[in-house]
Amino acid sequence: MSFNLRTLTLIAFLICLGVKPSFAQDPLAQLKKGHPKLLISDEAIRYDIEAAKTDPLRAALNKRIIDNAKKYIGATPIKHVLIGPRLLDQSRLAIERIMTSAMAYKLTQDPQFLKQAKFDLMTVCQFKDWNPSHFLDVAEMSFAVSIGYDWLYAELNDSERTQIKEALLNYSLSFAPLAYDKRGPQDKRVWFVKAEHNWNQVCNGGLLSAALVLSDEEPDLARLVINGARKSLPLSMHAYEPDGAYPEGPGYWTYGTTYNIIAINLMRSALGTDFGLSDTPGFNKTYLYRMAIASPSHFSFNYSDGGEGFEASPAFTWLSNKAGFQPAIQQAREELKRTLGGSKNRFLALNALWFPEEKKTDSTQNSVAEDLHFRGPADIALFRSAWNDPHAIFLGLRAGLNSTNHSHLDLGSFVLDSDGVRWAEDLGPDNYNLPAYFGNKRWTYFRLNNFSHNIITPDRTLQRYPALAPIVAFKSTPKEAYAVTDLSKVYPNTAEKYVRKAAILDRSRVLIEDELTNIKKDTVLHWRMMTRARVNKSKDASELTLRQDGHHLTVRVLEPKGATLSVIAATPPSEDEKQNERDQLIQVNVNATPNDHLVRIAILLSPEGDTWQKLPAPEVKPIE
Ligand SMILES: [Zn+2]
Repeated sequence: MSFNLRTLTLIAFLICLGVKPSFAQDPLAQLKKGHPKLLISDEAIRYDIEAAKTDPLRAALNKRIIDNAKKYIGATPIKHVLIGPRLLDQSRLAIERIMTSAMAYKLTQDPQFLKQAKFDLMTVCQFKDWNPSHFLDVAEMSFAVSIGYDWLYAELNDSERTQIKEALLNYSLSFAPLAYDKRGPQDKRVWFVKAEHNWNQVCNGGLLSAALVLSDEEPDLARLVINGARKSLPLSMHAYEPDGAYPEGPGYWTYGTTYNIIAINLMRSALGTDFGLSDTPGFNKTYLYRMAIASPSHFSFNYSDGGEGFEASPAFTWLSNKAGFQPAIQQAREELKRTLGGSKNRFLALNALWFPEEKKTDSTQNSVAEDLHFRGPADIALFRSAWNDPHAIFLGLRAGLNSTNHSHLDLGSFVLDSDGVRWAEDLGPDNYNLPAYFGNKRWTYFRLNNFSHNIITPDRTLQRYPALAPIVAFKSTPKEAYAVTDLSKVYPNTAEKYVRKAAILDRSRVLIEDELTNIKKDTVLHWRMMTRARVNKSKDASELTLRQDGHHLTVRVLEPKGATLSVIAATPPSEDEKQNERDQLIQVNVNATPNDHLVRIAILLSPEGDTWQKLPAPEVKPIE
């Protein structure tokens, strides 16, 4: 066999194995004709209805979808109303109503749901535009309309089909040639093509839905978008390297990853392949990250702009199912069970397609370590006293870069939970419509700068931006587990060296230790921790008792000897910011004297009560 023939045979063999086909191949080669072709199939619906007869969680999910759809009947029509520069709330409402109502119709064949879904679909197609100046709005609206068109195609008349098609072409796909031009994006509104964060995932996903739903009628446009998205999406998918962590935090993980999983499944369902995208290194491990940033108390480790609450994520379920990783599937199932009650999630219906099935056998031996280190732009370490214990201690340490999209000045900050409550918190984002929230006022806002994070601030110094604080040591043993981050570059004018160690000791308490070497004289170091607990101070102010929901935690200064704890309001400098009425700042002030070669601050945080061992204070040792 000649070399060329051997090569050709090899390529043909690899293609047969499903190995990533090249761009030269027609992406529409295996196109599923007709509708539905996006995410759903008649078999999947039949399976869901049948499986719900024996799985109470499936039954509860289907009931929630149907109950939500009932609430949309006769509701105020979706309107073209902007908040700030965004139509986004209306785009999201369109997904919530159209996808949920369409799924309710599939499950019940009740014509009320069909009528409402069609009404909402036709309403948004009659808008004057989908607000392309903020392209996320176009992307999410495109997804809502594509799903409605595809799932309800058989029930739409010719005039309705024409109107929907025109809207998708005029308001969304008309931007595709500008976005996916060979020279790069040719219009500033479609800059997402080159972005490496959530915009890339959402906007590619939205345009892809529109292109695929019209792929029978507009095959060349579909090819343009598919090939464009295949080149663009890897930019944001590489951000999960090497361990699956998301640079923008758990809140944006949900947003970006959901659309990424949607994009992958749009391709799989319509084209019979995702071109290998779901195997992208880092991305293929991100279910572990999503598992680990969820605390036993049901809060997330919410670094960057994002709240601490979270709902069940169909994207997490899909990734866990693909990996076949039983602990993650089980967690997805628990989350779905826990959050189904009041869920208004616009992606609720996707849970029925990507469902965490009950474990059928005990054959899997998979388990997860208590302590995990995820490297990457967000370099984070997570510790817990146990898995599957709602009272467990949970400690998260944030390191890495403070310049990733949506980042706060929070390097070195930590969160702490135990006994089902959060003791050390991150306040999360403020209002995006505050002046220059994403511009030159960002670090004036209390929730975004280091003054509100659980870290040392020297004098009134802001963290350097951008700065890198790598995790330089990580250890995990049953007795002691810790991570050390080097913060020297974060406050470069304060000390020659600054390291922080966050440790869980005896799986029953937490020690936060800071060491600053050759500190600038007369610096006042403010050690801070944000809490929403009620706080009582001991007589000598060396110890605080925090109380929340009937649980206790003590905070003790081990070093420097004689340092005292104070409690101050968490009020921001301006009235336009969130006022944080329920929160307080615990503070320890340490004055560096002219002769201080090394300043060490060691704070012990111990949950109290019958379930926790009573142990003497640990010896504080230098950070190695
Ligand atoms: Zn924060």
